[in-house]
Amino acid sequence: MWYSELVEAYEKIEATTKRLEMTDYLVELFKNTPSELLDKVVYLTQGRLYPEFVGIELGLAEKLALRAVANAAGVPVKNVESEAKRVGDVGLAAEDILKKKRQATLFSGRLDVETVYGTLDKIARTTGEGSVDAKIKLLSGLLADANPKEAKYLMRTVTGRLRLGVADMTILDALAVAFASKEQRELVERAYNITSDLGYVAKLLAEEGLEGLKRCKITVGRPIRMMLAQRLTSAEETLEKLGGRAACEFKYDGERIQLHKKSDEILLFSRRLENITAQYPDVVDAARRCILAEDAIVEGECVAVDPDTGDFLPFQELMHRRRKYGIERAVKEFPASFFLFDALYDGEDLTQMPYPERRRRLEAIVREGNNFRLSEMITSDDVNEIERFFELAIESGCEGLMLKSIAEDSVYQAGARGWLWIKLKRSYQSKMAEPIDVVVVGTFMGKGRRAGTYGALLVAVYDDDRDVFPTVCKLGSGFSDKDLENLPKILEPYKIGHKHPRVESSIEADIWFTPAVVLEIIGDELTLSPVHTCAFGQIREGAGIAVRFPRFTGRFREDKAPEDATTVKEIVEMYQAQLKKIE
Ligand code: AMP
Repeated sequence: MWYSELVEAYEKIEATTKRLEMTDYLVELFKNTPSELLDKVVYLTQGRLYPEFVGIELGLAEKLALRAVANAAGVPVKNVESEAKRVGDVGLAAEDILKKKRQATLFSGRLDVETVYGTLDKIARTTGEGSVDAKIKLLSGLLADANPKEAKYLMRTVTGRLRLGVADMTILDALAVAFASKEQRELVERAYNITSDLGYVAKLLAEEGLEGLKRCKITVGRPIRMMLAQRLTSAEETLEKLGGRAACEFKYDGERIQLHKKSDEILLFSRRLENITAQYPDVVDAARRCILAEDAIVEGECVAVDPDTGDFLPFQELMHRRRKYGIERAVKEFPASFFLFDALYDGEDLTQMPYPERRRRLEAIVREGNNFRLSEMITSDDVNEIERFFELAIESGCEGLMLKSIAEDSVYQAGARGWLWIKLKRSYQSKMAEPIDVVVVGTFMGKGRRAGTYGALLVAVYDDDRDVFPTVCKLGSGFSDKDLENLPKILEPYKIGHKHPRVESSIEADIWFTPAVVLEIIGDELTLSPVHTCAFGQIREGAGIAVRFPRFTGRFREDKAPEDATTVKEIVEMYQAQLKKIE
């Protein structure tokens, strides 16, 4: 398969903002792909080489990639650099430079997908001494064989900036249409939810059809997409929703971890399914001692603990572990406790069993240790008892409670935010008592003291029905000088030249970003606003909901993917709860 066929599809996808059209182009592309290449084509379309949990990432520094363009085109590096600066995109710069150059010379060869994938893979894997030159050489080789359009996408891909705006769910839609039918999409999604690997699912479906997908099983070592919770504000309503009786657990404020054990080997996955084993050697150790099953997949929340008092510390303290070196020091300074709350596998797939059975199995395979414990839990049908338990949770340094269905159908809903789990946090006062998590989608350049840097950010929440990010406010307060200095660096990799297709905004930002960076804000209250698109038209025609006087709380939520941001539904509920309090 020629790489140019992929590029043609990318061009079309990039030119549309309509999800249905995008899906059609993907269907066409997948149908034209030989099945043995389908996994690679899916990963490339996602701008990656492997699923997230494998941990092999593209992301060659732009400076190096530009040197490869200079080599391939035979022009001075500074020319390429100034062109890149001018157009603000390494891909467009490479395209322009090669266009000019290629008019004069004939260029060799045609690139096929396998060569492109193989070379990008080598670039991603090359490490150690001499690796910089080796990477540049590999990339120069590819660019020398590429036409200008191909060069554009190669450059964006290799630097980790291929942002076609194609969501995982759109790829699933396209796979279902291409190789099964729309009605069977659920099966395709289930396979994805338990394997977390779109390429694998695509290839299996193309080669073995739905029968192949049905045989798809949970595998220790391959993360399962995590089950998420809905939110309500009153214990009464929550209990009613759950059928009058529920499991009530402390809601710990830390990092969700899915722990896989295969004999002595332990793997830890974050909520975004990255492999974070290296960050928690203490949890790994404890798991070896405390999990009695030979093979298991369990889930829990890891919380930072004050070594002097034993009190829980804010979630942010765990972020000290997001580093390559000095983990041991971080473990000493910021020890953590792990609270387990679910078992998905104990030698047998447990995900289709009701929650009480999974909890029983969890208790059977865990021997509690100091920093490795089961979540605090009661089962209750009494609102007063639940409210008392809620207060106890808050006193203990937790965020509130998680109420979970104990009905026959209370299965583990991989990858879904359903009503089987409902979080209960402090009720809202007339003011916004609680922070929300928002995604940065754009920025406005600063004036006065902030001239030359970012003045305010344009932030959005997540609409999980339509898979888009509508804006909810402009955010300019609460940033320390250090934050202000760091923000451009943090956001730089996500800069794009246009509004991202999944962003809904009626405001024009100075710079747009791919939705990626999640941060926590608090505001005075939620108000109706004609300029923000969150829940637009839902409360009042011609108005959305916005956060009034938003401030950054100082917490970057590196653990959250953009789709984990506060949802539009949650904002609507908060808005309505706020009205009730005022009435
Ligand atoms: P939120 O991040 O606000 O959507 O709340 C859901 C998160 O709460 C889950 O993803 C877990 O990380 C966390 N959590 C804390 N305690 C529990 C618990 N007992 N059961 C389930 N999730 C919990």
